[in-house]
Amino acid sequence: MRKFSVKLKLTIWLTVLMSVMSVFFLILMLSLSSTVVMKTATSQLIATLQQNISHVSMVEGKLHLEDGFVFSHNGVSTLIYSKNKSLLAGQIPVSFTADESFQSGLTRSTDSSSGQYLVTDIWLPIGWEDGLWVRSLMEAPEQQTITSNILGMAAIALPIFIILAALGSYLISKHTFRPLENITATVSAINEAKDLSGRINIPSGNDEFTKLATSFDKMFERLEHSFDAEKQFTADASHELRTPISIIKGACEYGQKYDETPKERTETLDMIHRQAVHMSNLISQLLSMTRLDQGTELVNRESLDLSELVRSTCCEYTDLIFHLEDGVIVLGDSSLLSRLLLNLIENAYKYGGSQGSVSISVSRNLQEGLLSVKDNGIGISPENQEKIWQRFYQVDASHSENSGAGLGLSMVHQIALSHGGYMSLDSALGVGSIFTLHLPLSNKK
Ligand code: ADP
Repeated sequence: MRKFSVKLKLTIWLTVLMSVMSVFFLILMLSLSSTVVMKTATSQLIATLQQNISHVSMVEGKLHLEDGFVFSHNGVSTLIYSKNKSLLAGQIPVSFTADESFQSGLTRSTDSSSGQYLVTDIWLPIGWEDGLWVRSLMEAPEQQTITSNILGMAAIALPIFIILAALGSYLISKHTFRPLENITATVSAINEAKDLSGRINIPSGNDEFTKLATSFDKMFERLEHSFDAEKQFTADASHELRTPISIIKGACEYGQKYDETPKERTETLDMIHRQAVHMSNLISQLLSMTRLDQGTELVNRESLDLSELVRSTCCEYTDLIFHLEDGVIVLGDSSLLSRLLLNLIENAYKYGGSQGSVSISVSRNLQEGLLSVKDNGIGISPENQEKIWQRFYQVDASHSENSGAGLGLSMVHQIALSHGGYMSLDSALGVGSIFTLHLPLSNKK
Protein backbone atom coordinates (compact mmCIF):
# COMPACT_ATOMS: atom_id res chain seq x y z
CA MET A 1 0.00 0.00 0.00
CA ARG A 2 2.96 2.32 0.67
CA LYS A 3 3.92 2.49 -2.97
CA PHE A 4 0.50 3.97 -3.88
CA SER A 5 -0.05 7.72 -3.94
CA VAL A 6 -2.45 9.27 -1.40
CA LYS A 7 -4.79 10.03 -4.32
CA LEU A 8 -4.96 6.37 -5.28
CA LYS A 9 -5.33 5.22 -1.69
CA LEU A 10 -8.26 7.59 -1.17
CA THR A 11 -9.91 6.46 -4.40
CA ILE A 12 -9.53 2.77 -3.54
CA TRP A 13 -10.83 3.33 -0.01
CA LEU A 14 -13.91 5.26 -1.15
CA THR A 15 -14.68 2.77 -3.93
CA VAL A 16 -14.43 -0.22 -1.59
CA LEU A 17 -16.51 1.60 1.01
CA MET A 18 -19.15 2.46 -1.59
CA SER A 19 -19.27 -1.17 -2.81
CA VAL A 20 -19.62 -2.59 0.71
CA MET A 21 -22.33 -0.05 1.53
CA SER A 22 -24.20 -0.84 -1.70
CA VAL A 23 -24.19 -4.59 -0.99
CA PHE A 24 -25.34 -3.95 2.57
CA PHE A 25 -28.23 -1.74 1.44
CA LEU A 26 -29.16 -4.23 -1.29
CA ILE A 27 -29.52 -7.01 1.31
CA LEU A 28 -31.48 -4.66 3.58
CA MET A 29 -33.76 -3.68 0.69
CA LEU A 30 -34.40 -7.29 -0.24
CA SER A 31 -35.33 -8.23 3.30
CA LEU A 32 -37.55 -5.17 3.80
CA SER A 33 -39.19 -5.22 0.39
CA SER A 34 -41.17 -8.49 0.87
CA THR A 35 -42.57 -7.21 4.18
CA VAL A 36 -43.47 -3.85 2.67
CA VAL A 37 -45.12 -5.39 -0.42
CA MET A 38 -47.10 -7.83 1.75
CA LYS A 39 -48.28 -5.01 3.99
CA THR A 40 -49.31 -2.90 1.01
CA ALA A 41 -51.30 -5.79 -0.52
CA THR A 42 -53.00 -6.52 2.83
CA SER A 43 -53.99 -2.85 3.27
CA GLN A 44 -55.32 -2.75 -0.26
CA LEU A 45 -57.34 -5.92 0.40
CA ILE A 46 -58.85 -4.62 3.64
CA ALA A 47 -59.57 -1.19 2.12
CA THR A 48 -61.44 -2.78 -0.80
CA LEU A 49 -63.45 -5.01 1.54
CA GLN A 50 -64.41 -2.11 3.76
CA GLN A 51 -65.30 0.04 0.79
CA ASN A 52 -67.55 -2.74 -0.52
CA ILE A 53 -69.36 -3.60 2.74
CA SER A 54 -70.51 0.01 3.01
CA HIS A 55 -72.52 -0.63 -0.15
CA VAL A 56 -74.24 -3.84 1.04
CA SER A 57 -77.77 -3.60 2.46
CA MET A 58 -81.12 -5.47 2.63
CA VAL A 59 -84.08 -3.89 0.87
CA GLU A 60 -87.48 -5.48 1.37
CA GLY A 61 -85.88 -8.75 2.46
CA LYS A 62 -83.61 -8.86 -0.56
CA LEU A 63 -79.86 -8.43 -0.79
CA HIS A 64 -79.16 -5.03 -2.33
CA LEU A 65 -75.70 -4.00 -3.66
CA GLU A 66 -75.44 -0.30 -4.28
CA ASP A 67 -73.56 1.25 -7.25
CA GLY A 68 -70.27 1.69 -5.36
CA PHE A 69 -69.88 -2.06 -4.87
CA VAL A 70 -67.20 -3.56 -7.16
CA PHE A 71 -66.71 -7.32 -7.46
CA SER A 72 -63.28 -7.08 -8.96
CA HIS A 73 -60.93 -4.14 -8.47
CA ASN A 74 -57.11 -3.97 -8.77
CA GLY A 75 -56.80 -7.77 -8.53
CA VAL A 76 -59.05 -7.93 -5.45
CA SER A 77 -62.20 -10.07 -5.82
CA THR A 78 -65.11 -9.61 -3.41
CA LEU A 79 -67.66 -12.36 -2.79
CA ILE A 80 -70.81 -12.55 -0.66
CA TYR A 81 -71.79 -15.77 1.11
CA SER A 82 -74.80 -16.79 3.17
CA LYS A 83 -74.44 -17.91 6.80
CA ASN A 84 -74.15 -21.51 5.61
CA LYS A 85 -71.39 -20.53 3.16
CA SER A 86 -73.23 -20.74 -0.12
CA LEU A 87 -72.12 -18.09 -2.64
CA LEU A 88 -74.75 -15.39 -3.06
CA ALA A 89 -72.91 -12.88 -5.27
CA GLY A 90 -69.54 -12.56 -7.02
CA GLN A 91 -67.31 -14.96 -8.90
CA ILE A 92 -64.55 -17.05 -7.30
CA PRO A 93 -61.32 -16.64 -9.33
CA VAL A 94 -60.55 -19.84 -11.25
CA SER A 95 -57.10 -20.15 -9.73
CA PHE A 96 -58.46 -19.97 -6.13
CA THR A 97 -59.09 -23.59 -5.28
CA ALA A 98 -58.53 -23.53 -1.51
CA ASP A 99 -61.39 -24.50 0.78
CA GLU A 100 -60.79 -21.70 3.24
CA SER A 101 -63.00 -21.44 6.33
CA PHE A 102 -64.45 -18.03 7.33
CA GLN A 103 -62.93 -15.95 10.13
CA SER A 104 -64.27 -12.45 10.60
CA GLY A 105 -61.69 -9.62 10.64
CA LEU A 106 -58.62 -11.82 10.11
CA THR A 107 -56.41 -11.42 7.04
CA ARG A 108 -54.33 -14.52 6.26
CA SER A 109 -52.56 -16.18 3.39
CA THR A 110 -53.61 -19.51 2.10
CA ASP A 111 -52.19 -21.97 -0.43
CA SER A 112 -54.03 -22.44 -3.65
CA SER A 113 -53.31 -24.39 -6.85
CA SER A 114 -51.66 -21.41 -8.61
CA GLY A 115 -49.84 -20.05 -5.57
CA GLN A 116 -50.59 -18.10 -2.43
CA TYR A 117 -53.75 -16.04 -1.85
CA LEU A 118 -54.47 -13.35 0.70
CA VAL A 119 -57.95 -13.68 2.16
CA THR A 120 -59.97 -11.51 4.53
CA ASP A 121 -63.59 -11.95 5.66
CA ILE A 122 -66.15 -9.96 7.56
CA TRP A 123 -69.44 -11.05 9.12
CA LEU A 124 -72.24 -8.60 8.37
CA PRO A 125 -75.16 -9.10 10.77
CA ILE A 126 -77.93 -8.21 8.26
CA GLY A 127 -80.56 -10.10 6.29
CA TRP A 128 -82.03 -13.53 6.75
CA GLU A 129 -80.19 -16.16 8.76
CA ASP A 130 -78.85 -13.42 11.09
CA GLY A 131 -76.19 -12.21 8.66
CA LEU A 132 -73.87 -12.56 5.64
CA TRP A 133 -70.20 -13.29 5.01
CA VAL A 134 -68.33 -10.83 2.78
CA ARG A 135 -64.91 -12.10 1.60
CA SER A 136 -62.17 -10.33 -0.36
CA LEU A 137 -59.23 -12.19 -1.78
CA MET A 138 -56.25 -11.51 -4.02
CA GLU A 139 -53.17 -13.30 -5.27
CA ALA A 140 -50.29 -12.72 -2.84
CA PRO A 141 -47.36 -10.81 -4.47
CA GLU A 142 -44.61 -13.26 -5.41
CA GLN A 143 -41.32 -12.90 -3.47
CA GLN A 144 -39.32 -14.18 -6.41
CA THR A 145 -40.65 -11.48 -8.71
CA ILE A 146 -39.86 -8.76 -6.17
CA THR A 147 -36.33 -10.09 -5.66
CA SER A 148 -35.59 -10.39 -9.35
CA ASN A 149 -36.97 -6.86 -9.95
CA ILE A 150 -34.72 -5.39 -7.26
CA LEU A 151 -31.69 -7.38 -8.41
CA GLY A 152 -32.32 -6.29 -12.00
CA MET A 153 -32.37 -2.63 -10.96
CA ALA A 154 -29.30 -3.11 -8.71
CA ALA A 155 -27.36 -4.75 -11.54
CA ILE A 156 -27.73 -1.55 -13.57
CA ALA A 157 -27.58 1.08 -10.81
CA LEU A 158 -24.84 -0.25 -8.52
CA PRO A 159 -22.00 -0.41 -11.08
CA ILE A 160 -22.93 3.13 -12.18
CA PHE A 161 -22.82 4.38 -8.56
CA ILE A 162 -19.53 2.63 -7.87
CA ILE A 163 -17.92 4.00 -11.05
CA LEU A 164 -19.22 7.49 -10.19
CA ALA A 165 -17.85 7.19 -6.63
CA ALA A 166 -14.44 6.05 -7.89
CA LEU A 167 -14.28 8.74 -10.57
CA GLY A 168 -15.55 11.48 -8.24
CA SER A 169 -13.14 10.64 -5.44
CA TYR A 170 -10.23 10.45 -7.88
CA LEU A 171 -11.06 13.83 -9.46
CA ILE A 172 -11.70 15.54 -6.11
CA SER A 173 -8.47 14.22 -4.58
CA LYS A 174 -6.55 15.13 -7.75
CA HIS A 175 -7.94 18.68 -7.58
CA THR A 176 -7.28 18.90 -3.82
CA PHE A 177 -3.71 17.67 -4.08
CA ARG A 178 -2.78 19.89 -7.04
CA PRO A 179 -1.33 22.67 -4.77
CA LEU A 180 0.83 20.01 -3.09
CA GLU A 181 2.20 19.07 -6.51
CA ASN A 182 2.96 22.77 -7.14
CA ILE A 183 4.74 22.96 -3.80
CA THR A 184 6.81 19.85 -4.52
CA ALA A 185 7.68 21.06 -8.03
CA THR A 186 8.75 24.51 -6.80
CA VAL A 187 10.79 23.13 -3.91
CA SER A 188 12.55 20.69 -6.27
CA ALA A 189 13.20 23.48 -8.80
CA ILE A 190 14.67 25.69 -6.05
CA ASN A 191 16.75 22.79 -4.82
CA GLU A 192 18.04 21.81 -8.27
CA ALA A 193 18.75 25.34 -9.49
CA LYS A 194 20.05 26.41 -6.05
CA ASP A 195 18.14 29.63 -6.62
CA LEU A 196 16.28 30.84 -3.56
CA SER A 197 14.33 33.51 -5.44
CA GLY A 198 11.63 31.01 -6.58
CA ARG A 199 8.21 31.18 -4.89
CA ILE A 200 5.21 28.84 -4.89
CA ASN A 201 2.72 31.72 -5.23
CA ILE A 202 -0.51 29.73 -5.14
CA PRO A 203 -3.74 31.76 -5.26
CA SER A 204 -4.90 32.94 -1.84
CA GLY A 205 -7.28 30.75 0.13
CA ASN A 206 -7.89 29.41 3.57
CA ASP A 207 -7.16 25.71 3.13
CA GLU A 208 -4.25 23.80 4.64
CA PHE A 209 -2.25 23.72 1.39
CA THR A 210 -2.45 27.50 0.91
CA LYS A 211 -1.21 27.96 4.48
CA LEU A 212 1.60 25.47 3.86
CA ALA A 213 2.58 27.20 0.60
CA THR A 214 2.52 30.63 2.29
CA SER A 215 4.75 29.31 5.10
CA PHE A 216 7.15 27.86 2.52
CA ASP A 217 7.24 31.18 0.65
CA LYS A 218 8.00 33.02 3.90
CA MET A 219 10.72 30.50 4.69
CA PHE A 220 12.28 30.93 1.22
CA GLU A 221 12.14 34.69 1.62
CA ARG A 222 13.92 34.49 4.96
CA LEU A 223 16.48 32.02 3.66
CA GLU A 224 17.12 34.19 0.62
CA HIS A 225 17.52 37.21 2.87
CA SER A 226 19.95 35.42 5.20
CA PHE A 227 21.85 34.05 2.25
CA ASP A 228 22.14 37.51 0.64
CA ALA A 229 23.19 39.05 3.96
CA GLU A 230 25.88 36.42 4.37
CA LYS A 231 27.10 36.96 0.82
CA GLN A 232 27.13 40.71 1.38
CA PHE A 233 29.07 40.27 4.64
CA THR A 234 31.69 38.07 2.98
CA ALA A 235 32.07 40.48 0.07
CA ASP A 236 32.23 43.57 2.33
CA ALA A 237 34.61 41.98 4.82
CA SER A 238 37.05 40.72 2.20
CA HIS A 239 36.91 44.08 0.38
CA GLU A 240 37.45 46.23 3.47
CA LEU A 241 39.95 44.02 5.30
CA ARG A 242 42.26 43.83 2.32
CA THR A 243 43.67 47.37 2.93
CA PRO A 244 44.53 47.10 6.67
CA ILE A 245 45.89 43.56 6.14
CA SER A 246 48.24 44.70 3.39
CA ILE A 247 49.32 47.65 5.58
CA ILE A 248 50.06 45.23 8.47
CA LYS A 249 51.86 42.84 6.11
CA GLY A 250 53.94 45.63 4.60
CA ALA A 251 54.76 47.06 8.06
CA CYS A 252 55.90 43.62 9.31
CA GLU A 253 58.14 43.01 6.27
CA TYR A 254 59.55 46.55 6.46
CA GLY A 255 60.14 46.27 10.22
CA GLN A 256 61.93 42.91 9.90
CA LYS A 257 64.24 44.29 7.23
CA TYR A 258 64.89 47.87 8.24
CA ASP A 259 63.83 48.59 11.86
CA GLU A 260 66.96 48.72 13.96
CA THR A 261 66.24 50.94 16.94
CA PRO A 262 63.58 50.26 19.61
CA LYS A 263 61.91 53.57 18.62
CA GLU A 264 61.49 52.42 15.00
CA ARG A 265 60.05 49.08 16.15
CA THR A 266 57.62 50.84 18.50
CA GLU A 267 56.42 53.04 15.62
CA THR A 268 55.87 49.99 13.43
CA LEU A 269 54.03 48.18 16.25
CA ASP A 270 51.84 51.27 16.82
CA MET A 271 50.87 51.26 13.17
CA ILE A 272 50.08 47.56 13.28
CA HIS A 273 48.03 48.10 16.45
CA ARG A 274 46.02 50.94 14.87
CA GLN A 275 45.24 48.80 11.85
CA ALA A 276 44.27 45.87 14.07
CA VAL A 277 41.86 48.13 16.05
CA HIS A 278 40.47 49.46 12.77
CA MET A 279 39.91 45.88 11.53
CA SER A 280 38.27 44.86 14.78
CA ASN A 281 35.84 47.85 14.64
CA LEU A 282 35.12 47.11 11.03
CA ILE A 283 34.31 43.48 11.73
CA SER A 284 31.99 44.28 14.64
CA GLN A 285 30.20 46.92 12.54
CA LEU A 286 29.80 44.47 9.66
CA LEU A 287 28.52 41.77 12.00
CA SER A 288 25.95 44.15 13.47
CA MET A 289 24.79 45.13 10.02
CA THR A 290 24.49 41.53 8.95
CA ARG A 291 22.41 40.74 12.04
CA LEU A 292 20.22 43.75 11.33
CA ASP A 293 19.84 42.52 7.74
CA GLN A 294 18.75 39.13 9.00
CA GLY A 295 16.43 40.64 11.60
CA THR A 296 18.18 38.84 14.48
CA GLU A 297 19.61 41.95 16.12
CA LEU A 298 16.30 43.49 17.12
CA VAL A 299 15.42 41.59 20.25
CA ASN A 300 14.59 44.03 23.02
CA ARG A 301 11.70 46.15 21.88
CA GLU A 302 10.18 48.25 24.63
CA SER A 303 8.30 51.50 25.07
CA LEU A 304 10.82 54.27 25.61
CA ASP A 305 10.87 58.03 25.94
CA LEU A 306 13.08 59.49 23.18
CA SER A 307 14.20 62.45 25.36
CA GLU A 308 15.29 60.12 28.16
CA LEU A 309 17.19 58.02 25.64
CA VAL A 310 19.00 61.17 24.42
CA ARG A 311 19.86 62.25 27.99
CA SER A 312 21.26 58.85 28.98
CA THR A 313 23.21 58.43 25.71
CA CYS A 314 24.70 61.93 25.59
CA CYS A 315 25.61 62.49 29.25
CA GLU A 316 29.31 62.63 28.39
CA TYR A 317 28.92 65.32 25.70
CA THR A 318 29.01 68.63 27.53
CA ASP A 319 28.87 70.98 24.56
CA LEU A 320 25.72 69.64 22.89
CA ILE A 321 22.64 71.87 22.69
CA PHE A 322 19.37 70.13 23.59
CA HIS A 323 15.74 70.91 22.67
CA LEU A 324 13.94 67.95 24.22
CA GLU A 325 10.17 67.45 24.38
CA ASP A 326 9.19 64.93 27.05
CA GLY A 327 6.61 62.17 26.58
CA VAL A 328 7.56 61.25 23.00
CA ILE A 329 7.13 57.50 23.42
CA VAL A 330 8.20 55.02 20.75
CA LEU A 331 8.64 51.27 20.63
CA GLY A 332 12.30 50.46 20.21
CA ASP A 333 15.51 48.76 21.15
CA SER A 334 17.36 51.28 23.36
CA SER A 335 20.88 49.99 22.60
CA LEU A 336 20.29 50.13 18.82
CA LEU A 337 18.73 53.59 19.01
CA SER A 338 21.68 54.78 21.15
CA ARG A 339 24.06 53.42 18.53
CA LEU A 340 22.14 55.32 15.83
CA LEU A 341 22.30 58.54 17.86
CA LEU A 342 26.04 58.16 18.59
CA ASN A 343 26.79 57.58 14.89
CA LEU A 344 24.94 60.80 13.98
CA ILE A 345 26.67 62.80 16.77
CA GLU A 346 30.09 61.41 15.76
CA ASN A 347 29.48 62.51 12.16
CA ALA A 348 28.19 65.92 13.27
CA TYR A 349 31.47 66.49 15.13
CA LYS A 350 33.59 64.97 12.35
CA TYR A 351 32.01 66.99 9.53
CA GLY A 352 30.88 70.01 11.56
CA GLY A 353 32.91 73.20 11.37
CA SER A 354 35.74 73.67 13.87
CA GLN A 355 33.77 76.54 15.48
CA GLY A 356 30.45 74.82 14.92
CA SER A 357 27.85 73.60 17.33
CA VAL A 358 25.83 70.41 17.41
CA SER A 359 22.26 70.40 18.64
CA ILE A 360 19.85 67.59 19.32
CA SER A 361 16.09 67.88 19.38
CA VAL A 362 13.22 65.55 20.21
CA SER A 363 9.69 66.44 19.11
CA ARG A 364 6.58 64.86 17.68
CA ASN A 365 4.04 65.34 14.94
CA LEU A 366 0.66 63.62 14.66
CA GLN A 367 1.92 60.05 14.16
CA GLU A 368 5.69 60.23 14.54
CA GLY A 369 8.35 60.77 17.14
CA LEU A 370 11.24 62.83 15.69
CA LEU A 371 14.88 62.80 16.77
CA SER A 372 17.16 65.29 14.96
CA VAL A 373 20.90 65.91 15.04
CA LYS A 374 21.88 69.27 13.57
CA ASP A 375 25.32 70.63 12.74
CA ASN A 376 26.49 73.74 10.94
CA GLY A 377 29.41 72.08 9.22
CA ILE A 378 30.41 71.33 5.64
CA GLY A 379 26.96 70.07 4.51
CA ILE A 380 26.28 67.53 1.76
CA SER A 381 25.63 68.33 -1.89
CA PRO A 382 22.20 67.33 -3.32
CA GLU A 383 23.75 64.64 -5.60
CA ASN A 384 25.40 62.96 -2.60
CA GLN A 385 22.39 63.10 -0.29
CA GLU A 386 20.92 59.87 -1.75
CA LYS A 387 24.22 58.02 -1.84
CA ILE A 388 25.50 58.55 1.69
CA TRP A 389 23.16 55.80 3.03
CA GLN A 390 24.90 53.15 0.92
CA ARG A 391 27.49 50.85 2.46
CA PHE A 392 31.07 52.15 2.20
CA TYR A 393 29.99 55.34 0.45
CA GLN A 394 32.06 58.37 1.45
CA VAL A 395 31.74 61.81 -0.08
CA ASP A 396 35.46 62.40 0.27
CA ALA A 397 37.06 59.08 -0.63
CA SER A 398 40.60 60.15 0.41
CA HIS A 399 40.85 57.92 3.50
CA SER A 400 42.64 59.61 6.31
CA GLU A 401 43.81 57.27 9.07
CA ASN A 402 41.02 58.14 11.52
CA SER A 403 38.21 58.38 8.96
CA GLY A 404 35.51 55.76 9.18
CA ALA A 405 34.75 53.02 6.70
CA GLY A 406 31.59 54.57 5.30
CA LEU A 407 29.38 52.20 7.29
CA GLY A 408 27.97 54.57 9.96
CA LEU A 409 25.03 56.06 8.01
CA SER A 410 24.23 52.74 6.39
CA MET A 411 23.79 51.30 9.87
CA VAL A 412 21.73 54.34 10.95
CA HIS A 413 19.47 53.78 7.95
CA GLN A 414 19.06 50.07 8.74
CA ILE A 415 18.29 50.65 12.41
CA ALA A 416 15.58 53.15 11.43
CA LEU A 417 14.05 50.67 8.96
CA SER A 418 14.17 47.81 11.46
CA HIS A 419 12.06 49.95 13.82
CA GLY A 420 9.44 50.61 11.17
CA GLY A 421 10.75 54.17 10.71
CA TYR A 422 12.98 56.06 8.29
CA MET A 423 15.69 58.75 8.06
CA SER A 424 15.44 62.11 6.41
CA LEU A 425 18.16 64.62 5.62
CA ASP A 426 18.06 68.36 5.21
CA SER A 427 21.48 69.66 4.16
CA ALA A 428 23.16 72.41 2.18
CA LEU A 429 26.83 72.71 1.27
CA GLY A 430 28.65 75.10 3.61
CA VAL A 431 25.56 75.59 5.80
CA GLY A 432 25.20 72.31 7.65
CA SER A 433 23.01 69.22 7.95
CA ILE A 434 20.01 68.04 9.91
CA PHE A 435 19.64 64.25 10.12
CA THR A 436 16.16 63.26 11.43
CA LEU A 437 14.94 59.89 12.61
CA HIS A 438 11.17 59.34 12.16
CA LEU A 439 9.62 56.61 14.32
CA PRO A 440 5.97 55.60 14.73
CA LEU A 441 4.62 56.74 18.12
CA SER A 442 3.77 54.00 20.58
CA ASN A 443 0.30 54.13 22.15
CA LYS A 444 1.62 52.40 25.30
CA LYS A 445 2.84 54.71 28.05
P1 ADP B 1 32.07 57.63 7.58
O1 ADP B 1 31.72 58.77 8.44
O2 ADP B 1 32.67 56.51 8.29
O3 ADP B 1 32.80 58.01 6.33
P2 ADP B 1 29.22 57.41 7.25
O4 ADP B 1 28.42 56.34 6.67
O5 ADP B 1 28.97 57.77 8.67
O6 ADP B 1 30.72 57.00 7.02
O7 ADP B 1 29.00 58.69 6.36
C1 ADP B 1 29.06 58.59 4.96
C2 ADP B 1 29.51 59.90 4.36
O8 ADP B 1 28.48 60.90 4.53
C3 ADP B 1 30.69 60.47 5.03
O9 ADP B 1 31.87 59.99 4.43
C4 ADP B 1 30.52 61.95 4.84
O10 ADP B 1 31.08 62.32 3.60
C5 ADP B 1 29.04 62.15 4.75
N1 ADP B 1 28.52 62.70 6.04
C6 ADP B 1 28.05 62.01 7.06
N2 ADP B 1 27.60 62.79 8.06
C7 ADP B 1 27.84 64.07 7.63
C8 ADP B 1 27.60 65.36 8.19
N3 ADP B 1 27.05 65.53 9.41
N4 ADP B 1 27.95 66.44 7.46
C9 ADP B 1 28.51 66.28 6.23
N5 ADP B 1 28.76 65.10 5.65
C10 ADP B 1 28.42 64.00 6.33
